[in-house]
Amino acid sequence: MSEAPTFIVVGSGASAVVAAARVLDAGHRVLMLDSGDVDDRYSQRIPQRPFATLRQEDASQHEYLLGHAAEGIDLGGTGPLAQATAPRRFVFRRALQLLRTSGDSFAAVESLARGGLAEAWGAGAFPFTDHELRQAGLDAGEMAPHYEAVARQIGISGADDDLAPWRGALAALQPPLALDHNAAALLASYERRKQQLARMNVRLGRPLLAVLSEGLGERRANPLHGLDFWSNAGASVFRPSVLLDTLMGRPGFEYRSQLLVTHFDEPASGGVRVNATDLQHGSRISFTADHLLLCAGALGSTRIVLRSTGHYDQPVPLVCNEHAYIPSVRWRGLGAAASGRSHALAQLTVLMDPTGDQQHLVQAQIYSFTGMLLARLLKDSPLGLRDSLSIFQALASSFVILGVQHEDVASPGKHLVLRRGPVPEEDVLEIRWRPDASVQAVQDAAHRGFCEAMRVLGCWPLRVVRPGAGSSVHYAGMLPFADENRPLTLDRSGRLRETRSVYVCDGAGLNYLPAKGPTLTLMANARRIACELAQSLCKR
Ligand SMILES: Cc1cc2nc3c(=O)[nH]c(=O)nc-3n(C[C@H](O)[C@H](O)[C@H](O)COP(=O)(O)OP(=O)(O)OC[C@H]3O[C@@H](n4cnc5c(N)ncnc54)[C@H](O)[C@@H]3O)c2cc1C
Repeated sequence: MSEAPTFIVVGSGASAVVAAARVLDAGHRVLMLDSGDVDDRYSQRIPQRPFATLRQEDASQHEYLLGHAAEGIDLGGTGPLAQATAPRRFVFRRALQLLRTSGDSFAAVESLARGGLAEAWGAGAFPFTDHELRQAGLDAGEMAPHYEAVARQIGISGADDDLAPWRGALAALQPPLALDHNAAALLASYERRKQQLARMNVRLGRPLLAVLSEGLGERRANPLHGLDFWSNAGASVFRPSVLLDTLMGRPGFEYRSQLLVTHFDEPASGGVRVNATDLQHGSRISFTADHLLLCAGALGSTRIVLRSTGHYDQPVPLVCNEHAYIPSVRWRGLGAAASGRSHALAQLTVLMDPTGDQQHLVQAQIYSFTGMLLARLLKDSPLGLRDSLSIFQALASSFVILGVQHEDVASPGKHLVLRRGPVPEEDVLEIRWRPDASVQAVQDAAHRGFCEAMRVLGCWPLRVVRPGAGSSVHYAGMLPFADENRPLTLDRSGRLRETRSVYVCDGAGLNYLPAKGPTLTLMANARRIACELAQSLCKR
């Protein structure tokens, strides 16, 4: 073994794999500690054929589309796991069993899976604008090269269209994926009514998706089977396990799973000790390294930090995008045949600029019916299930669903507190979520604006479905970047204050979440932290 400093990376999610790859590239050794639950049932089971063909021809389709135990049928409300098909349930399974949260009807969705939450993500890959990065505590100039490097590493398809000036810059793009029939019609309608929509401060364009339209290394372009919420043919959708698989073969990298990391400490003799519970044997085990990169997800890293630093019962901020669905019918398309081949992820992105200065953008992704699992919205229909079923079947090929995201920033009514349990594994993360009263009115106005824009585009918006706080699964703000030296904050390098060698590389550091999926930014920031740390070690 070389004498290069060692890094322990906790987690194998989007932030972790990018950070680990970067320190490994710099010649350092990496030990990745992970809970690492895997899908042992479905991954090899789903035929690589179009969704429509499977629906017509495969007599055992129910086994994977609905699940062996019909676990893909969720009769509760449209909540945070609205997109979690049976083959994706493993992403949440162990976290639901082992991690404890309570309070305020806030759905705190976490993952203890190999690859984390992005094994189930929708692959919407937005850069933040300069203004949004500043609000989040990040520097646009520092982030730009890391956005581009991550985009080249994971593969992002999209276009430079009307959204580009509002969306944030990204040069390393593959061509956009083919649109389905609904999206093509909406885009054509937008081109005709662009001026009217511009007066409403609304723009429409292609989404940026971490999905390949061209091969990248061993990975293949998306086959347009419409099965992206069930399987990942050719690894065309970036999922952290795709990058983890390549790390596994590299010298200097070691992956240990079946571990629940509980806390760290920094011995006076130097380095950092990471303590974990072996999930198979129940024993306690510790590991040492020169540096620790915490990438356990924003909530997971916060648990580990609060426990390690003894900050029980002390509130820390919580930032989370609120979101809503607006199911709509494209009435001009009623009765038209569905297009044969398409992917199931977001087809289009809508941006609205309610303040006219691009500083409080509201964003929506437009999905067609297979993508957002029309059946799940049946439950929200005002009609009975049987009536709704026949109506929804008739409307299916002209159905579009907007997934709306709202910005969020820390405020006094929204925080987390770690309460001590009988053993560290049973500590409870208590959540209080009371947004300022003005927030709901701003969001309602944006929903009305989106409904109006959909009418202009030739759609009937049916209703606004609010799946509840927390269900965007975009969390941040607990251990914020701060210039002043305060406990439970990060310095610009990502180092946790009051520690020598502990760095937080996931969303916990971001002070602000614009109305966008944060994951590309989490990856770019994790890469920035890992890169700066690796470089500073080389200079020593
Ligand atoms: C259905 C769905 C759709 C989404 N769509 C989008 C989207 O389109 N665009 C977007 O930007 N974002 C999206 N997201 C959010 C996105 O998935 C997350 O922002 C992102 O995956 C977070 O990555 P992370 O690496 O920071 O943390 P996580 O994904 O939470 O990974 C945490 C890792 O740490 C490990 N871990 C945690 N605690 C411990 C512990 N104590 N001990 C050992 N290991 C531990 C876990 O096993 C896991 O490997 C979506 C999420 C969901 C659920």
